[in-house]
Amino acid sequence: MADPARKHSRNASGPWFVDDTCIDCGVCREHAPGVFDDAGDASFVAREPANPDEIRRAWLSLLACPTRSIGSSGVPRPADAVFPLRIDGDVSLCGYTSRETFGGQAYFVRRQDGHGNLLVDSPRPVEALLHSLESQGGVADILLTHRDDVAHAGETGARFGSRIWIHEDDADSAPFATHFIRGTQAIELHRGVLAIPIPGHTRGSVAFLVDGTYLFSGDSLAWDREAEDLEAFRDYTWYSWEAQARSLERLATHSFTWVLPGHGDRTPHAMPDLPARLRALARRMRR
Ligand code: SF4
Repeated sequence: MADPARKHSRNASGPWFVDDTCIDCGVCREHAPGVFDDAGDASFVAREPANPDEIRRAWLSLLACPTRSIGSSGVPRPADAVFPLRIDGDVSLCGYTSRETFGGQAYFVRRQDGHGNLLVDSPRPVEALLHSLESQGGVADILLTHRDDVAHAGETGARFGSRIWIHEDDADSAPFATHFIRGTQAIELHRGVLAIPIPGHTRGSVAFLVDGTYLFSGDSLAWDREAEDLEAFRDYTWYSWEAQARSLERLATHSFTWVLPGHGDRTPHAMPDLPARLRALARRMRR
C-alpha cells in the first residue's frame, strides 16, 4: 500500500502519487507513458490521468507495480482495469510483477491444442491472477527465459502441477524446475512451441516462439518505443555481448511478428519485418 506521507517530491498535485519505495523498474511508464515519468532513480506522477483510458492505464500501473508504490487516493478502479490483460490472440499480459524479478513481465498463453496453457516467466502470485488462470484451464507449462525471472515459478507450478522448463545453464537458479533445455539447438516442446537457446544476457537465456508469431524474448531483446526499432541492453548483459549478437543473428532465421520481453516495451502490434530488423540489430551489436 503506497504511503501518501512518503510521496515523491516531483509528483503532480492530485490524487495519484508515487511514494519513496519505488525501485525505478519502469513498469508504470510502460503502462501509462506521460502520466508516469522518470526522475532518474524513481518514477513520479508527471501529470494526473486526463481521461478514462489514462485512468485505466494508471490503475493497471498500480496493480502491476512490484513494490506497491503507487497510490490513487480513492479514485475508483474501472471494471476493465484487470489482469491478465489480453494483448493479441490468446496471449495475455499477467501484470502483477514481482520485486524479485525487478518488475519482469510474465505472459499467459491459452492453448487449445490438448497440451495445455503456457506461462512465460513468473508473475507475483496474486490470488486474483491465479484464480483467473485457473478459470481458463490452469498452467500446464511454465517457460522460464533465464535465471533472473524465476522468482515465484516454483510456487505457481506447485499450485497448477505445471512442468517447469529452464535451460540447464541457468538451472541452478531454479531448483524447482522439472524439465531442461540443453545446448544451443532449438527444440520443439510441443507442436507450435519452440525453445530457442540464445546465450548472451545470461548463459542459459532462451527465447520461446509460439505459433511462429509470438517471440517471448526475456531480457535479451525488446522494442524501443522512442527509436521505433528493436533493442538489446548492453549494460545489462551478464554473460557475453558478443555471444548475444551471435544468438540474435540465429534467432533472426525464425519468423515472428511480435516481441514480448520481460523488461522493456513489447512491439505495439504485429510487425512482419521483425526478423529483418533483428538481423540489422545483430550487425549493429557487432560494431
Ligand atoms: S512500477 Fe512501481 S516500482 Fe516500478 S517504476 Fe513504477 S512506481 Fe516505481
